[in-house]
Amino acid sequence: MRFLRGLFGANKAKEEIKENGIVGGTTNVVGSMIKRSLYIKIAAVVAPIIIIIIVLFIAFLAIAYVLDHDSKIFNIDWPGEGSIITGSQLSGINDNTAYWWPIGGSEIETKNGVQFATGDPTSTIITSSFGYQEWRGRGHAGIDIGSAGSGPGVHNIIATVSGTIYSVTTGCDDNGYYGNGCGGGYGNHIIMTTSDGNYIIYGHLAQNSITVQEGETVTQGQVIGKMGNSGSSTGTHLHFQIDVGGYANSYAVDPTTYVSPDNPRPVISSSSSSQFIEFLHSWEGHGPVRTDSSGNITHYIVADDGYGTLTVGYGLTLRYDAEEFARHGVDVSTLSSGSAIEKSIVDAVEEEVIAAWRETTESFLAQNNITLEDYQVDALVSRIYNVGNINSFPSNYRTYGNTQALYENYMSKPVTSNGQYSLGLARRRAAEWELFHNGNYQLNS
Ligand SMILES: [Zn+2]
Repeated sequence: MRFLRGLFGANKAKEEIKENGIVGGTTNVVGSMIKRSLYIKIAAVVAPIIIIIIVLFIAFLAIAYVLDHDSKIFNIDWPGEGSIITGSQLSGINDNTAYWWPIGGSEIETKNGVQFATGDPTSTIITSSFGYQEWRGRGHAGIDIGSAGSGPGVHNIIATVSGTIYSVTTGCDDNGYYGNGCGGGYGNHIIMTTSDGNYIIYGHLAQNSITVQEGETVTQGQVIGKMGNSGSSTGTHLHFQIDVGGYANSYAVDPTTYVSPDNPRPVISSSSSSQFIEFLHSWEGHGPVRTDSSGNITHYIVADDGYGTLTVGYGLTLRYDAEEFARHGVDVSTLSSGSAIEKSIVDAVEEEVIAAWRETTESFLAQNNITLEDYQVDALVSRIYNVGNINSFPSNYRTYGNTQALYENYMSKPVTSNGQYSLGLARRRAAEWELFHNGNYQLNS
C-alpha cells in the first residue's frame, strides 16, 4: 500500500512538473531546449537497454516454459506432474472399498432423469501408475486409465462415489498433446468433493461430454462425462486423482488404495456378525412381506407408518436410504405404500445402512479415544440404529465407565422420544445393556 501510494505520489509530481513546464515554457526556452536534448540522449541509451531486458526476459520465459513442467514458474498443474509423493504422506489412509472404479459400463440406464452406467467397466487398464516415475523425473499425482484403443467420447466416466460437483472446466478440444495448457493441463475436467473430505479429479474428458454442473449432487455410478484426449494428454485416457483433505497435488494419494480394477463395484462390506444381525432383527422386526408357495420371503412390501413415512423390511426408511436404494436400481420416489421390493435388494441395502452406522460409530469412538470390544460396539450400533445418535456416550462413559451407573444415566435412555414409558423400548435398552456389559446377545422373544 505504501509502495502504491509512493507510485501515485511520483506520478502526481511528474504531472505537476509537466504543467509547470507548459506554463513556464515561454520564460526559459533555451533552458528547456538543453533539457530536451539531454532527455533524447538519455532515451537513446536507456531505450535499447530496456528493449534488451524485455527480449531476454521473454527468452527466459520461453526456455522456462519448455523446460519447466513442474509448475514452479507458471503455477500450472501439469497433469501427472505434481509434487513427488512420499510414503509418509500415504500413512493414515483408510482403505475405503466402497469407492467404485471410475469407468462405467457400456449400457446407460436412465433413472429419474439421471444416467447411470453401473455395469462392468469398459476399461480396466492402468497405463500410468501413481507416484515417482523415472521418465517423468517426478511424481504422478494420479493414475491414468487407458482407452483400450478407442478414441474420445466412447467410455463412460462415472462418479466413483456419491458427492458434490466442486468445479467443471470445459472448452478444450480433443487435441491433446504434451504441454497443452488448456484447463490448466487437465483439459476438460471435473472436480468433485466427497462426504469424507476428499477431492476427486477426472481429467482430459472429451469435449462437450460433461453432463454435470458445479454444485450438483451426484450419485455413485452416475455418468458425469466421457473419456477424452483434452489438455496435456498424449492419447485418449482418464487421469484419475484423489486428494485427501484438500485440493492440491501435494494432497494426492494413490487412487488404488480406493479403487480397484479387480473389484470395480464393491459394496460396503458389513463387519457385523450374523449374531448381531439376528439380535437387531429381533428388536426391529420387519414389515409386510410377499412369499412364494413354499413360504419363503421373496419381497418386502413398502408400508406407511401412519404418519406418511414409508418403511420397508427391518426398519429401513425409504427417504433416508434413497441413495442406497438408487445404487441397487430402485428409485424410491416412484414407490408408495403396497409397492414390493425384492428381498435381496432390501437385504443388501440394510447391510449397507448397518455398515454405515457401524463405520460412523467406530470413527466417532476413535476420535474420542475410546476402545471397546466388538460386542460393545454392536450394542452401540443397535442403539444408534434406533435412537439416531450416540453424541453423549463419550462423556457418560468417561464419567461412569462400564458400570451400572452408565446404564442408569445413559444406556437405559431414552425409553421413548416423548418420555412415556414403553415396555418394548425399555426391554430393548436393557438388552443393549446386557450386550454392552456382558457380551450377551439376548434376543427379543
Ligand atoms: Zn495422469
